[in-house]
Amino acid sequence: MIYLDHLASTPLDPLVLEAMLPWMRAQAAGNPHAAHPAGWRAADAIAQARVEVAALVGAQPGEVVFTSGATEANTLALLGGVPAGGACVVSGVEHASVLACLPELRRRGHAVAVLPVDSGGRVDPAVLDSTLSDLPKPALVSVMAANNEVGTVQPLAELAAVAARHGATMHSDAVQALGTRALDMAALGIHGLSLSGHKLYGPMGIGALIVRRPFRPVPASPGGGQQRGLRGGTLPTPLCVGLGVACRLAHERREEDARRIGDLRDRLWQRLQSRLPGIRRNGAADGLAGCLNVTIPGIDAADRLLDLPELAVATGSACHSGASEASHVLLALGLSVMDAHASLRFGLGRGTTAAEVDEAADRLSAALGSVKAGGMNRPA
Ligand code: PMP
Repeated sequence: MIYLDHLASTPLDPLVLEAMLPWMRAQAAGNPHAAHPAGWRAADAIAQARVEVAALVGAQPGEVVFTSGATEANTLALLGGVPAGGACVVSGVEHASVLACLPELRRRGHAVAVLPVDSGGRVDPAVLDSTLSDLPKPALVSVMAANNEVGTVQPLAELAAVAARHGATMHSDAVQALGTRALDMAALGIHGLSLSGHKLYGPMGIGALIVRRPFRPVPASPGGGQQRGLRGGTLPTPLCVGLGVACRLAHERREEDARRIGDLRDRLWQRLQSRLPGIRRNGAADGLAGCLNVTIPGIDAADRLLDLPELAVATGSACHSGASEASHVLLALGLSVMDAHASLRFGLGRGTTAAEVDEAADRLSAALGSVKAGGMNRPA
């Protein structure tokens, strides 16, 4: 198996697993909110995890709200964070977990604006400026740090500065950026940030919403008042510990990972280009190190991948209950539905090797070559 789908999920780092294991054993049983030594030990471990998560994003430990993942973090930020009577502004290339909140916000009577992107997938700060001028105040702006399909990195500092001029709260889904990009919330002037464990070589089932003053979303599940009432529920000690270690490792390895993975991404692109004439690259050129999104005109990517079960890559289609829909991100960049279905996303990561990249390019071009020779390269 050649795993080139790190944007969908990253394998657990062995050091993360090692740190989690003691907290999954019976001796470590103890509710971290309980008032006895077992509870205090768990609470201390979680406090340490908060320090590590906060350090990765330039925040304070007390600003970390653990969630079940980035979907929940985005939902809390959007559904809980749009001020009463205010507006919500997002980009058209946000993750489904952000876009799915919009109908409910509209139903509640909020004005909602979806910003267009250019052909590279970037939001223009001037467009945010004019959009905010036309909307009721105060607003919540949510623009992702980096896109999960094409890897485009947004001009967050400029966008946050525009938001600040309009007195708007700025949230960013930073799920994909944190493994290879430095991001400092305090320096950027961002109030809310979502992250996810399983995109950072940490465990699945945990993420966080970082909440900086004056941002204070209305909780969806206040529960027993845990986490300053922002998200109730007993915290899962092993998952919190795992997320903390994953964030520490991301912090330590970020620069080296970005350089090495970026070189492999360039190698993959060169190899694909030399074997597949007509192939095009999607997204901005200075995007995420681990992302390469391409269109190979005339193929049906999902179909072709059925012939390559040993290659784990993603297509430009999202499968909803069996029917495949063209990616809203590729369409927002201006691709046709046909070209979106002819697109593949390679997600390279920490464990990716040059040999894997070469083999992936060779197998893919061999499979496509045989299809073209047979004249069956048009989607039905
Ligand atoms: N935002 C982005 C940009 C993502 O890529 C993902 C995962 N595909 C999510 C949010 C959702 O994260 P989770 O799986 O932790 O709910």
